[in-house]
Amino acid sequence: MDNATDCIFCKIVGGEFGTPFVAETARAVAFRDVDPKAPTHVLVVPRNHVAGLHHLSPSDGSLVAELMSLAVEVARREGIVDSGYRVLTNDGPDAGQTVSHLHLHVLGGHPLTAGLG
Ligand code: AMP
Repeated sequence: MDNATDCIFCKIVGGEFGTPFVAETARAVAFRDVDPKAPTHVLVVPRNHVAGLHHLSPSDGSLVAELMSLAVEVARREGIVDSGYRVLTNDGPDAGQTVSHLHLHVLGGHPLTAGLG
């Protein structure tokens, strides 16, 4: 799927709101979360619409690698590689996914709470 109607992240990828990209690759972009939960809170998303993690297939392996590599590049540019950072994705309602376009949260810049559940 190239683009989903009414998907806010597809619109950001398409430049509709003029959201600046922190970093980008051929298949992914990174932009700041509108409601940051840490000093650095950047979202890494595929340019093409993917609703969430479980919508990926094994043939998307190189896209996953590109997303993860871009998350590391964001951390590098933000200067938080050595201090540490967290990369996570929420998939589905119980995880708290609110935007149905796959995104990695890159969080850091201060000590993060240890809890995962
Ligand atoms: P999740 O709850 O895991 O689906 O994460 C969605 C994230 O998208 C939240 O952290 C929101 O603050 C963020 N968000 C929603 N709309 C926008 C937007 N227009 N620009 C940047 N971030 C957004």
